Amino acid sequence: MRKQIAAANWKMNLTYPQAENLLTDILNANIDLKENQQAVFAVPSPYLIMTNEVLATKDNYFTAAQNCYNKKSGAFTGEISAEILHSIDIEYCVIGHSERREYFGENNKMLAEKIDLCLEYDITPIFCCGEPLSIREANAQNSYVETQLKESLFHLAADQLEKIVIAYEPIWAIGTGKTATTAQAQEMHAYLRSVLAKQYGKNVADLISILYGGSVKAGNAKELFSCADVDGGLVGGASLIAADFIQIIQSLK
Ligand code: PEP
Repeated sequence: MRKQIAAANWKMNLTYPQAENLLTDILNANIDLKENQQAVFAVPSPYLIMTNEVLATKDNYFTAAQNCYNKKSGAFTGEISAEILHSIDIEYCVIGHSERREYFGENNKMLAEKIDLCLEYDITPIFCCGEPLSIREANAQNSYVETQLKESLFHLAADQLEKIVIAYEPIWAIGTGKTATTAQAQEMHAYLRSVLAKQYGKNVADLISILYGGSVKAGNAKELFSCADVDGGLVGGASLIAADFIQIIQSLK
């Protein structure tokens, strides 16, 4: 059974006490996660160790880094390596969020290198892909996203690909309040799975969790997650409000 994941992306938000309170409020809801369900929190780097300690008290709750560098180690001031994340027991890392692609010039080749380093250090990459509005308006989203997958993931062997989580995040829906319709989300997720199946076979493709990201809210999560190929969500804004993220976790199938 594929993992169903509610992943919070806090981005560059919350002070340390606010972060502690938010985690406490969410854990106090005592949500009963099924074996195949997970809640993941991608937090600012200074909060990784605290978050991991707090979440260790519960099964199926994990901490994620929001990024890592595409080099193993060395003179890269300000960067964090997969090896460093592994050394503090971090098990997930968001890779290739559209904000990193846009503001920090990350390209598909660099992201392939980051994916390799994560896998080398037993970190599950949450690989983000998704098209900008101009590509969607030109109805060219399928080939755009397929190229992102091919250039960052298709060098992997099947047993490596099985360790990846994919997040489809149409850029026009991130932080805009504009959510993809369930039909648009399901259509793209099914397409991505078919692209994976063509390269790796249906059995492998069926194992990969594909999350939807882009203005997931407490009120639309259930409907989005009910789509056959949508295995949860990567959530920005709504993950900063305890009651909302609790409801989003409870919307997992
Ligand atoms: C995100 O940060 O990945 C995201 C989808 O943000 P939001 O939920 O705020 O659109």
